[in-house]
Amino acid sequence: MPGTAGSSTLPVVVVGSGLAGYAVARDFRKLDSDTPLLLLSRDHAGFYSKPMLSNALAGQKTAASLLMKSADKMASELKADIRAGEPVGAIDTTARTVTTGDGEVIAYRDLVLALGADPMRPPLAGDAADAVFCVNDLDDYAQFADALEGAKSVAILGAGLIGCEFANDLLHRGIASTVLDVADRPLSRLLPAEASVWLRERLESAGVSFRLGVAASRIDRADGGGVRLALSDGSALHADGVLSAIGLQPRTALARAAGLAVARGITTDRALATSAPHVWAVGDCAEVMGLNLPYVMPLMQQSRALAATLCGSLTPVAYPAMPVLVKTPACPTAVCPPPPGAVGEWQVMSSADACEARFVRADGTLLGFALLGTATSKKQAWVAEVPAWFVN
Ligand SMILES: Cc1cc2nc3c(=O)[nH]c(=O)nc-3n(C[C@H](O)[C@H](O)[C@H](O)COP(=O)(O)OP(=O)(O)OC[C@H]3O[C@@H](n4cnc5c(N)ncnc54)[C@H](O)[C@@H]3O)c2cc1C
Repeated sequence: MPGTAGSSTLPVVVVGSGLAGYAVARDFRKLDSDTPLLLLSRDHAGFYSKPMLSNALAGQKTAASLLMKSADKMASELKADIRAGEPVGAIDTTARTVTTGDGEVIAYRDLVLALGADPMRPPLAGDAADAVFCVNDLDDYAQFADALEGAKSVAILGAGLIGCEFANDLLHRGIASTVLDVADRPLSRLLPAEASVWLRERLESAGVSFRLGVAASRIDRADGGGVRLALSDGSALHADGVLSAIGLQPRTALARAAGLAVARGITTDRALATSAPHVWAVGDCAEVMGLNLPYVMPLMQQSRALAATLCGSLTPVAYPAMPVLVKTPACPTAVCPPPPGAVGEWQVMSSADACEARFVRADGTLLGFALLGTATSKKQAWVAEVPAWFVN
């Protein structure tokens, strides 16, 4: 295994101050209070919970009120040197250094890449194509929330988890949202068809509109204000603003330029080790054993394992069943997707106020599930039935 930690006065350097970077820093400090810890982030490096960005409008939250701890507060809590506004531009895995945006060269004992992912941008023509918002961090949220002043309608590109959550959240501001997707149903990658329809009907009853099986091809400023979206079925849609939530692309450019192995994300083994000694990757940027899982529970598992490894006890990551809660209060939803490539079938039962979907193997083993409406109360019991993906 490349890069097991040894003793040295060089720092453990973490690049990125999102949930993954801070989870590693916290877990590491629980085990080692002495080794210098340096966290470099190109952003403000304040601590916030990214999942709250898609249900913050309901609580009248501002970007400032979502910020839970400043970089200075985090630095003193973690006994770490935290440098905000410090992009890392290059890694030399032979010399074991990183170079910051202003040319400073910093040597590391171990380097943890917690770089996150970029929102994918839809290919759009039109004079308002650059007015499309993506909300992937606190600054994006601040700009989006400002732009909503006076808005009555928003078009959301993408009917996945984030698109559906924002659609529900906008209702709390009295803003009508229309969710568009090339797929013919919401959450098509997480839910079986019957459960998608169940979700869609509840969101529609709450006031969300859907335009499914279509793509936006161009966006132009409309006479009289707002924008006009031209759709692939030849129709058009007017909205005061547009939010894109069509997916994420792991940030791999820095790793690729340093010669690290990269596939969809920065590739690692189960110990979170990249292809270079003493370089590790966690969170949305990482592809662990072929799996890029851009959710909070996986990154918590990764951080705990990596912290132990960095403290000398080689620990492969364990993946128990990791349910994701979809923050759509109009239709509470918990999803525990089956492992990619799992062979089995969905069995769905629904009533007026609950929908239960089980993904079962031929021998009856529950490999994944979706619970909607009042059925979400069964989440803990069902999670306990689902076998772990990786277990130590
Ligand atoms: C709106 C929204 C809602 C979500 N809701 C849920 C949910 O309900 N449940 C769930 O499980 N997951 C949810 N997720 C996903 C979850 O939030 C992410 O998986 C998680 O926050 C990713 O954390 P991260 O630290 O890997 O990445 P990020 O938070 O993106 O952090 C990356 C960090 O790296 C820094 N960085 C990048 N490049 C450089 C560089 N070259 N030099 C220095 N710094 C750099 C960035 O500035 C940033 O600080 C949601 C995501 C979004 C966008």
